[in-house]
Amino acid sequence: MVHQNDSGDGSAFVLPNEQPFERLEVEQAFNELSTQEALYTHYLGQASWYGGLIILFQTSPESPDIFRLIHALNCGEPIASLKDKSLAVGVTDTEFNAYLVYASGIYGNWGNYLGFGDSKFVPNLSENAFEKIVLASQAAMNNTGLKDVWTRVKGPMYSLSDKEKQLGLGDEGITKYFSSNCNSQDSDIVNRFLKYKNIEGWNTRVMKTIGETGTTQYEIRNAAVDKCVLSEETFENCNFKVTTGDYEALLEKVNENLIEAAKHASNDLEKKMIDEYIKSFKIGSVDAHKDGSRCWIKNKGPTVETYIGFIENYRDPTGVRSEFEGFVAVVNKKLSQIFQTLVDNAEELLPKLPWTKDFEKDKFLRPDYTYLEVVACASSMVPSGINIPNYDDIRQEEGFKNVTLGNVLKAKHGVSKSRTNFMSEADDQLFKEYKVAAYEVVVGLHELLGHGSGKLFMETEEGKNFSDELINPLTEKPLESWYKLGENYNTIFTTIGSSYEECRAESVALHLSLDSSSVQIFGHSGEDIEHIKYISWLHMAHGGIVGLEMFSPASDQWKQAHSRARFVILQVLLEAGDGFCKVEQVTGDDGKPDLLLTMDRSKLDTVGGPAIAKFLEKLQVYKSTADIKSALAMYDGYSQVTDKGSHPWLTWRDIVVNRKKHRPILVQGNTRLENEKIKLTQYDPSSEGLIKSYTDRFPSIAEITELFESVTKSEGNHW
Ligand code: ZN
Repeated sequence: MVHQNDSGDGSAFVLPNEQPFERLEVEQAFNELSTQEALYTHYLGQASWYGGLIILFQTSPESPDIFRLIHALNCGEPIASLKDKSLAVGVTDTEFNAYLVYASGIYGNWGNYLGFGDSKFVPNLSENAFEKIVLASQAAMNNTGLKDVWTRVKGPMYSLSDKEKQLGLGDEGITKYFSSNCNSQDSDIVNRFLKYKNIEGWNTRVMKTIGETGTTQYEIRNAAVDKCVLSEETFENCNFKVTTGDYEALLEKVNENLIEAAKHASNDLEKKMIDEYIKSFKIGSVDAHKDGSRCWIKNKGPTVETYIGFIENYRDPTGVRSEFEGFVAVVNKKLSQIFQTLVDNAEELLPKLPWTKDFEKDKFLRPDYTYLEVVACASSMVPSGINIPNYDDIRQEEGFKNVTLGNVLKAKHGVSKSRTNFMSEADDQLFKEYKVAAYEVVVGLHELLGHGSGKLFMETEEGKNFSDELINPLTEKPLESWYKLGENYNTIFTTIGSSYEECRAESVALHLSLDSSSVQIFGHSGEDIEHIKYISWLHMAHGGIVGLEMFSPASDQWKQAHSRARFVILQVLLEAGDGFCKVEQVTGDDGKPDLLLTMDRSKLDTVGGPAIAKFLEKLQVYKSTADIKSALAMYDGYSQVTDKGSHPWLTWRDIVVNRKKHRPILVQGNTRLENEKIKLTQYDPSSEGLIKSYTDRFPSIAEITELFESVTKSEGNHW
């Protein structure tokens, strides 16, 4: 399950010429690894990258060919040389730039559909100009086969029929999880068969054929190195064949690297985990992958974290089959150390929250949480936070891990060179300087003391966990409500539950950030502390504005828990009055409508602080006492996006959406083995940098051609 993400953009079906790029910074964390850990990381990264190529085959019929085409062009010669030749045959600068952006999009999304939003994107230059680049290239001189790839792929690359605009099943879109002759009736019968056979379809695809006698045959093909038929039988008058061998050449490369990684594992759990993954990919077994995931959960606090396999099922139109994903990340030791100190200091910090000891847990429980820096992540959508595994049986009985991919989060929401929207120039400068420091403070306080704090009053078999004399500080009367036997937070708070809890954790972070001693734990002193406090608060209010995009006017609903939480907090800050926090409509430098957020930092302690403390007390008391009625009245009230009242948020939402920054494509580094040491290379955050990272990653176009032709051949004529 992916969390903390924002939505896709792009209804125009092209990537903009000014497409932003961000580098995934990992050098500092990587350099702290021992040689053995670095080797382990390297081979897991290699396994992830080779597995990433599977995504091309899972996305659209033309994706592998497009990848081959652009990769051959980019590997054939330096980009500067390809550009010179293209310009010499009449391609313009803008057109060549559009080629670079398109190629980057194919690499960054592992195919020609956006990882966010699943809509198709086509080149932002004419077919004619693209053809000139292909024909002028060194790659076309070296390899006559490349022209055939171009001839085959140019049609589907540019085509934008209604069915092709998005991923979907049957007439609704394109999918590679079912052969192209399948529709929802086929998926229904296949589902019934899977249920009857007790097969979990995570790593499968469905291929339908009609036999000579007119019998329908469904092949359920498991991703695996080994090719074999597991079973064959008749079900509802159709022939069902369960086989293995999908993507076999690519999974073989994955396993080759996993075998090397296992040699450098730090403990037996890691070794067993990798052995199970290898087994899973070799014979196509979901059970082996589950066993690997079990080891993964038990492997607490490792230095290098990884997960690999068929994980997220968002892209199968029927939500059963999963896309390949692999990542390897280094635990951020500095932040882990700080988080440990925060937990050690919990006894001193918790009493500073705006409730009495009775409302605090009897014993502080550290939430399961790790802050990671990604070294390699092959996924159509690199997430900034994940909660895995997705296997419900394991989640319920054995648990899961909650990880934040810190450098992804920083890169996605990070310090871009351009002016930050909705802030004054002075605030923008301070914001750029202190954003990362403030962000770390807020995340640490949010995750550990936010989610970790506060007690729920419950009735259990042994009686109540609170005293009858306990007074509700809001009503000054004894408690009137609590969690009855069999009730819990989720059953009572239902649909607002996750956003309300995020809001509580964010408010705890704001409240405690005003206490200098908590900022000091993060290693700051002097003037920096005051700047960090201010930027933490400004950033939160800013998040409330930017997050408006995640409100859907059509359904009058919030689509994202964190965005809603920050919007609610912004309302509390505005309501605090006394000129503390303001949002006004202004005219931007471009002459278009704009918004300006301002905050009077001299009133943080006197106006902002008390307003958040009062609000946080209510959040906690309603949560502790299961008072959903009061919680809803307050939370829904603050969540309203309308044109009523002093701030026309519904109208302003259009300004926010119009000024939305394009999602950056992440430029990831490469590791390579050199004199028995692993070296990390990072690249420029630009289309050239991204392309270079991929030509270094897969330097042999002959290998790519061979792997792809092998998979295409075994796929057969199903698409
Ligand atoms: Zn949270």
